Amino acid sequence: MKTELLIVDKNVDNLDIYPQITQAATFLKENEVVAFPTETVYGLGGNAKSDEAVLKIFEAKGRPSDNPLIIHISKKEQLNEFVKEIPATASILMEKFWPGPLTIIFQKKDGVLSDVATAGLETVAVRMPEHPLALALIDAAGLPIAAPSANRSGRPSPTTAMHVWEDLNGRVSAVVDGGPTGIGVESTVLDCTAEIPQILRPGGVTKEQIEAVIGEVKVDPALTNVQAAPKSPGMKYTHYAPDAPLFLVKGSRDFIQQLIAEKRHEGLKVGVLTTEENSDYYEADVVQVCGQRAQLETVATALYDSLRSFNKTDVDIIYGEMFRNDGVGHAIMNRLLKAAGHKIVEEL
Ligand code: AMP
Ligand code: MG
Repeated sequence: MKTELLIVDKNVDNLDIYPQITQAATFLKENEVVAFPTETVYGLGGNAKSDEAVLKIFEAKGRPSDNPLIIHISKKEQLNEFVKEIPATASILMEKFWPGPLTIIFQKKDGVLSDVATAGLETVAVRMPEHPLALALIDAAGLPIAAPSANRSGRPSPTTAMHVWEDLNGRVSAVVDGGPTGIGVESTVLDCTAEIPQILRPGGVTKEQIEAVIGEVKVDPALTNVQAAPKSPGMKYTHYAPDAPLFLVKGSRDFIQQLIAEKRHEGLKVGVLTTEENSDYYEADVVQVCGQRAQLETVATALYDSLRSFNKTDVDIIYGEMFRNDGVGHAIMNRLLKAAGHKIVEEL
């Protein structure tokens, strides 16, 4: 398949009649799949009402079919077509955080959306992205758009069109290039079908921000287990992973440098994932700087590009610093733990 690269300046007026957007929307209406930027990461979109289109998304990504997709809309009114009811808490959150990086789970109306998109569940995950190109494209298509991140399954999510191209060239009809995304980690997934809403995936909107608006929210217990055993076997589900094994290190810079030195002594090429504050400190084969620890938003923005950049080097092993587990740090640590397959080395 030939993949069209459609370059669009997101600051142009009347984006929804911009030729490249019209072309991308035509692909969507014809049940083809198109990658496009959002404020979190690039998404791979398809008509959420069409099994044919949604199957193409799973196929292009190599995504397991039991993992449901988020449905993207450009207007709140679109919800009524496929959602049974909008709980009061959801209404308040939509008012406050839409458009934006908050995905809300609702009870689904039957027979409107593709069951492939929702993996046969009774619920549906929905969000309204805050990116002019995403909104213009969804508007121009006039459809709810199912869109997971536009990476091959298991790899770090794409934050530039180049990342998408590396993974999906030849597998999708078009890539809309609108420049780098901003936030860098995916949306927060919040289940609003329960009495007390529950965070299923930490992301761009923090627990603290949500609680400030609606009071108590729960966190899926599976997310809070950061205390994995040291050097736990890397046999758990890995995601967002660079090619070389990544070990997170709970300990001082000195300890990290000691680990690096040991591996280099064994003849291995060693990478380290660090932040601006510590970058001059390490002696390693590759020192990858990922934002500023003092400003965690910058770490989120740079995270996936940093993980991907190790694949352009010949490192055999990577050590990564850890981050505080609140605010946007919650999403960063969640992604890093998955990228590391929960392998943590702890300083004793
Ligand atoms: P991605 O599309 O890669 O950003 O991932 C979407 C995330 O939303 C995955 O973690 C899905 O498991 C989750 N998700 C989508 N739909 C639902 C749903 N109906 N219930 C619970 N989680 C969902
Ligand atoms: Mg993804």
